[in-house]
Amino acid sequence: MDADPKTSPMKPVFKGNFTQQEPIPEAGIAAALDVLRGGRLHRYNVAEGEAGEVALLEEEFAAFTGARYALAVASGGYAMSCALRALGVGPGDRVLSNGFTLAPVPGAIASVGAEPVFVEVTEDLTIDLDHLARLVGACGASVLLLSHMRGHVCDMDRLLAICDAAGVRVVEDCAHTMGAAWNGLPSGRHGVMAAYSTQTYKHMNSGEGGFVTSDDPALMARAIMLSGSYMLYARHRAAPPPDAFEQVKWVTPNVSGRMDNLRAAILRPQLADLPRQVDRWNALYRTVEQGLRNTPGLKIIERREGESIVGSSIQFLLPAFSEPQITTVLEGCAARGVELKWFGCAEPVAFTSRYDSWRYTDAQSLPETDRILAGLIDMRLPLTFSVGDAGLIGRIIREEVSAVALDG
Ligand SMILES: *Cc1c(COP(=O)(O)O)cnc(C)c1O
Repeated sequence: MDADPKTSPMKPVFKGNFTQQEPIPEAGIAAALDVLRGGRLHRYNVAEGEAGEVALLEEEFAAFTGARYALAVASGGYAMSCALRALGVGPGDRVLSNGFTLAPVPGAIASVGAEPVFVEVTEDLTIDLDHLARLVGACGASVLLLSHMRGHVCDMDRLLAICDAAGVRVVEDCAHTMGAAWNGLPSGRHGVMAAYSTQTYKHMNSGEGGFVTSDDPALMARAIMLSGSYMLYARHRAAPPPDAFEQVKWVTPNVSGRMDNLRAAILRPQLADLPRQVDRWNALYRTVEQGLRNTPGLKIIERREGESIVGSSIQFLLPAFSEPQITTVLEGCAARGVELKWFGCAEPVAFTSRYDSWRYTDAQSLPETDRILAGLIDMRLPLTFSVGDAGLIGRIIREEVSAVALDG
């Protein structure tokens, strides 16, 4: 049995760093040095007979997800805006999206001059499909930018049934679901297009970067032209055939957002290793989750049966806690080295901005989202943590939450 925190003379403290990533694999460092020594960093700057790191990475990423086509780009945010542009979303259009997501998602919608229409979140932290069903016909949007925020995947079958019936096309934001699946089909394979991020805090780390994938040759030809391929699209290896570009190449603006060979070089070994990393993340996740079970006042977010997750972060709810009680928990955990983020804080901190923080959008009221986010706690699980670390973190949170729950 664990010591009672009130009587224990020594409360254990966690010493790890929540923002420390693993090093880039040695194979990636070696490949990056080769690119640097060759000086050919631009993706289309290739020697005779050379494919280039970016084209090879795209081919490997397409194979990894099962998508017919893949395009590597400068960021996840760019990937989303590129997908929206490829779908023809433009100024004044409305785009459905999650009320609970990260700032680059509404930002991508705003970047093409469109207006987000936010959908409520459920206690599972997925998009509220009943609210979506009510909005979908009424709001005039023809695209849903669906964010699998923090890796939580909704019932995709029901979501697609709702969207298909209304003629709404789905773009998946897979920033937190690279390597995850719904009912055995990889995340990103359910909508017409998908966007991924390889920014440092996601599942592969190139500092900045991302992908667009799709099976649709016309959409992908547009995305490739948009990304800044000039007339060099034939050098891609995970692209539609040249005839898909015949019309598109005259009418698609260049909105440069290419990936370079240096980033691709460090990503290729990471992609090869991703399945193993997913298992490591999930071992951390399940250990913290187990440690939090049956904590008074704390609601675990149970993962759905159809979800294959990547547990790179964990969330839980403190539904009945007041603001001062939550602050006490956060301070108690912080004093013991456990860094929690709170999506209910009135003032957005770091990445905890909410739909009502994005005041460039039309004001909307989402009472359910407000209620749920008021008690939502979020924590990163970097792979520099061991399973032992995860056990200690779970114990610290359980003790700090219990102390407040039993006090209150
Ligand atoms: C990180 C993130 C993105 C994309 O981010 P970039 O920093 O632009 O690569 C998109 N959606 C969500 C939910 C994210 O967390």
